[in-house]
Amino acid sequence: MKATSQSRRDFIKTASVAAASLPFAGALSSCAQESAPTKKIGFALAGLGELSTTQIAPALQNTQFCKLAGIVTGHPYKAEKWKAQYGIPDKNIYNYDNMEQMADNPDIDVVYVVTPNGLHAEHTIKAARAGKHVLSEKPMEVSVEKCQQMIDECKKAGKQLAIGYRLHFEPNNLECVRLAHEKVFGGVKLIQAGFGFHIGDPTQWRLKKDLAGGGCLMDVGIYALQATRYLSGEEPNEVSAFTTVTDPVKFSQVEESIVWQSKFPSGIIANCSSTYNADGLGSFKVSAEQGWFDMNPAFQYHGNHGVRGDGEEINFTDIDQFAAEMDDFAQCILENRPTKVPGEEGLRDVKIMMAIYESARTGKTVTLA
Ligand code: NAD
Repeated sequence: MKATSQSRRDFIKTASVAAASLPFAGALSSCAQESAPTKKIGFALAGLGELSTTQIAPALQNTQFCKLAGIVTGHPYKAEKWKAQYGIPDKNIYNYDNMEQMADNPDIDVVYVVTPNGLHAEHTIKAARAGKHVLSEKPMEVSVEKCQQMIDECKKAGKQLAIGYRLHFEPNNLECVRLAHEKVFGGVKLIQAGFGFHIGDPTQWRLKKDLAGGGCLMDVGIYALQATRYLSGEEPNEVSAFTTVTDPVKFSQVEESIVWQSKFPSGIIANCSSTYNADGLGSFKVSAEQGWFDMNPAFQYHGNHGVRGDGEEINFTDIDQFAAEMDDFAQCILENRPTKVPGEEGLRDVKIMMAIYESARTGKTVTLA
């Protein structure tokens, strides 16, 4: 199959039939529906920082099933700016202390939590108690307990909870899942994955333990961890790790760089890395019995592509990953079906990341249940 020459529609047709049994892959087919929606799901964005401003709000304009209905912000000047830019009525503008008043607002169906990691539970719980579905950014939270609280509160409210794993909707990652799960190059044996970047401002919340939960692993290493899980289709049963800090002033609370290895029940081994203090890391490579394939870059908003050992390119047409993710969640709500990226998926990553930190701390391999 020559991936480069395939249209997205052909790809979706092939991939959704071939991979219908894969929870990771299944999500894409649903975002490809072309019928006009009867009702658009109203999203309120909680946290109007970088991601909301540059990705999510623009992506909402590209959705079929969603609309930007409201905002939650602690800054009145941001409220004014967003109100003017997106025509949001005053009655749909909230702050973090009056979110419970959303209960009386039928314009808002979903709260998309885009605040620092350590506030996801607080804002998710407020939204759920106001009777709203929740889409929370990754990482789900900074502890297993807080993830579980988010799941419990949404369940109690009878509302859906999804985690913002945009790559579950990205055609090139999806094609790699197909290559791995269908054993196109034989059984997978080894996965290498890494994601990192050079972090700037030393005062930002990403370097503070209470708000971030950890360093590069929680922020971007999670993409490498996710890749090992969706490519293997398995959960790791052992992890070992170590961290390093070469700038103890900037990285006084969280790790600067980390490497970890994990072993999966079938015998697949993964070798992963993440950093906040170097560039050029953002790919994966899968080695199988009779060949290999890679993606470099693998985790970007746009331009992910790869190569197979037989010389074929993996280069499907770019999509708006955030629009696909939100459209899929909207359809889950409209059709009353479960999301492919539920809170339980976010919880699994946080459990594994806590085991990775434990290994780095103790110098011992940690076994996962
Ligand atoms: P940001 O710092 O740009 O924005 C965070 C927002 O939260 C700001 O508007 C800030 O005012 C608000 N906030 C509310 N209470 C706060 C507090 N006590 N301290 C600091 N800020 C507070 O961050 P971001 O890059 O937009 O990231 C937000 C979330 O999105 C994080 O969980 C991050 O991991 C996630 N994220 C996901 C992706 C992705 O590709 N899915 C990309 C970037 C960020």
